[in-house]
Amino acid sequence: MTVHRADGRPCVAMLLASLVRNTHGVPVGFMGSLFDITDRVRAEQAMAEAKQLAEAANRAKTEFLANVSHELRTPMTGILGFSELLGRPGLPADQQAEFLRLIRQSGESLLKLVNGILDLARIEADRLTLRKTSCPLEQIIGDVTTAAGLEAASKGLQLRVVRQEPLPETILTDPQRLRQILQNLLQNAVKFTERGEVCLSVRCVDHEQPGARLQFAVSDTGIGIPAGDLDRIFLPFFQVDGSATRRYGGAGLGLAICFRLAQALGGELTAQSSLGQGSTFVFALPVAADDKRPENLTPGAAGNDAGSGNVPTALRGRVLLAEDDPTTCELLRHMFQQLGPELEVAENGRQACELAEQSRCDGRPYDLILLDMQLPLMNGYDVAARLRQAGWQGPLIAVTAHAMAGDRERCLAAGCDDYLAKPIGLAQLRETLTQHLAGKSATGDIPFGCKHPGQPEGN
Ligand code: ADP
Repeated sequence: MTVHRADGRPCVAMLLASLVRNTHGVPVGFMGSLFDITDRVRAEQAMAEAKQLAEAANRAKTEFLANVSHELRTPMTGILGFSELLGRPGLPADQQAEFLRLIRQSGESLLKLVNGILDLARIEADRLTLRKTSCPLEQIIGDVTTAAGLEAASKGLQLRVVRQEPLPETILTDPQRLRQILQNLLQNAVKFTERGEVCLSVRCVDHEQPGARLQFAVSDTGIGIPAGDLDRIFLPFFQVDGSATRRYGGAGLGLAICFRLAQALGGELTAQSSLGQGSTFVFALPVAADDKRPENLTPGAAGNDAGSGNVPTALRGRVLLAEDDPTTCELLRHMFQQLGPELEVAENGRQACELAEQSRCDGRPYDLILLDMQLPLMNGYDVAARLRQAGWQGPLIAVTAHAMAGDRERCLAAGCDDYLAKPIGLAQLRETLTQHLAGKSATGDIPFGCKHPGQPEGN
């Protein structure tokens, strides 16, 4: 029961009373004491709440694991299944091409999931790096709507783009992250819409004022979101339908990432929705119009485009690859055949040091070394440090599946000049080689002097 203490404060009390009888055994009253059990009751409530929270977190974790497992296994099924079919003799060329397309598509969705998990981990650890640059707004709109337009068309949906002029020509922001947000919103809009249209509208609020904001609104005529769930859709792993019978794929990470990216860019992401009618996501981004000449921003320039194999100009040079995984070696051998430079392979870190040493002593030093960081006998970090210590000045490029926050910095600190995260695409490899092989030739400058022929240097 709730009573008031002498000082007027309410408290939860427990009454312990006993019946009082007179000398003839007749009940004449009660005698009792009131105990203030407020603290105990509060502690019990807190414990019950904590238990509920723990159970909810456990449920979310189980659902997430089930979803991630599903999201991993689905593309894996595509990759393994179609690779097996591809090995059958006498397969018509058009089927081969189709199976290859499906394998690539499955690989891309696997990569998307892994990148999503890494992005979230980076954001949660406050280790997101933004690369702000001057970017042409129209190109960004074009990039994101081209991809979404294809997906929309394949579902029979229309994708409209509405530009409300005046709009700035260039904006100063991180174009990759801006694209990521818009692409995600557009992909969701297409995914959760069965008929009707998806629309991206862009307008500038308070144009040319100090507080000018670009407003991107992605609206759809899809399934909508129940009002009670609207404030939870930005939580990691939340899905309106997280059940095993859900219709739509996804791991529930996209919006959580977009929400935090929007904040990191100084903007804000909000949602409105009406169940069964559609949803609108609005991303407002503060803009500082930029007068500098915009960079030529190629969509996915830093991405994983395996490309068509059309090499504009063959690259020259001699490259050493330190890699122990035979599949990656095979893949890179094929890529190098298309790109031009000669490739030699070291299977472990020690051999990489020895070959590098040998090459300079032979007077034909490698023009570039690609270094997997996880290598048998001597890891890539030690190889890089040792080569640098021995005076190697040629480019060392880390090629690694370690793509967590801080991995790039660790590679650079060990002495590498650049960093490529696996999986590597042909276009990305060409770009890196072009950059680091510029002006090099097989008989170019010797990257370091020959001090101890035949012997690796350093510790
Ligand atoms: P997912 O990978 O599940 O799509 P998101 O974080 O992108 O993850 O979205 C979280 C959830 O929000 C989705 O599972 C879906 O329930 C809901 N949602 C997101 N966008 C839309 C939309 N345009 N229409 C309806 N529901 C949406």
